[in-house]
Amino acid sequence: MTPSLPLFPVTTVGSWPRPPELVEAFARRQRGKLASRDFDALADRAVLDALRAQEAAGVDIVTDGEQRRDNFYSFVAEKLDGVRMMSLAEMLDIVEDKESFGKLLATLDVPAFSIRNPTCVGRIRRREPLVLDDFEFLRRHTDRPVKVTLPGPYLLTRAMWVKEASRAVYPTKEALAEDVVELLRTEAASLAAAGAAFIQFDEPVLTELVFTHGRTRTFMCAALAARNDPAEELSFAVSLINRVVDGLEGPIVGLHVCRGNWSRNEETLLRGSYHPLTPYFEAMHVDQLVLEYATPRAGSFVAAPGKSIGLGVVNPRMAEVETPAEIERRVEDALKHVASDRVFLNPDCGFATFTARAMNSREIAARKLASMVEAARTLRRAAAVA
Ligand SMILES: [Zn+2]
Repeated sequence: MTPSLPLFPVTTVGSWPRPPELVEAFARRQRGKLASRDFDALADRAVLDALRAQEAAGVDIVTDGEQRRDNFYSFVAEKLDGVRMMSLAEMLDIVEDKESFGKLLATLDVPAFSIRNPTCVGRIRRREPLVLDDFEFLRRHTDRPVKVTLPGPYLLTRAMWVKEASRAVYPTKEALAEDVVELLRTEAASLAAAGAAFIQFDEPVLTELVFTHGRTRTFMCAALAARNDPAEELSFAVSLINRVVDGLEGPIVGLHVCRGNWSRNEETLLRGSYHPLTPYFEAMHVDQLVLEYATPRAGSFVAAPGKSIGLGVVNPRMAEVETPAEIERRVEDALKHVASDRVFLNPDCGFATFTARAMNSREIAARKLASMVEAARTLRRAAAVA
């Protein structure tokens, strides 16, 4: 059941900078030096801090800031049988074509902190919910509508299917995708039943398909599995998301696509407008596209008829805080293409996609949220008198 929302609802894309003690706790836990219970106590506190920061800023739809995740997708390895975090060195050991894998690594634009990949090594099975428990925790502590973020089915399939490790159980990535779809369908249905207001699937890798024309130049090991025709891959991605969300009742379903969010140096991130993705966006059975537009790398606005827009109005990687007036201008530009009751306001991406690499401090992130809220209030007043 979706609660009623004001015009221009303000929300985030997911991740929030973790406090230093939690960043350290991730590292200690990974080395086996910290018990789960101690980690959970720190993470609970960080989630509540992230929640209070959003509430204090006046955000309409809150998230848990992804505080419990090492990053936006590989956390699933902890929840699933059949998936193991593998270092690139381990992967190099098992791949048959070591020469091209070596070359790939040399040219890969992979940040050193993310070079562990959740790799499928057996039949995947949900040992525990991916995010339902996290949602329940947050809901116990807030009256506001809650957004839950999940890695998209295409991203997960591409990340997890590594031929040499996965083929004994899943001969092709399409075979693995069947179980990934089922996994995400189950999770989404349980979130809907539990009262999540918004479910957002993250598929950042879609931009890589169009901007690198199938050549790997990626920020994610996810690219290792696929060097197929981009159009085929995009159609495959559309079919997967549709199978995950078809029949899902209740929550707003969003799809987030950006161009990478691991560096404050915009030059290292992908560039290009969403236009080549438009036909695929239109074919996706989602309610909302959550897109970055604050960064000039995203080019001009694309309209997707029938869908609302989660409009990126602040850049999570910039230390400078956008003024409400700047944000209002960005919204007014979008309103030339889309009706006012179809615009949500959010940052371009999370503030800390990777635990060890927050893009901004919590203080600056909070000021950016407050700026969005102030802009939304002004826009609502203007809409009321119009
Ligand atoms: Zn993003």
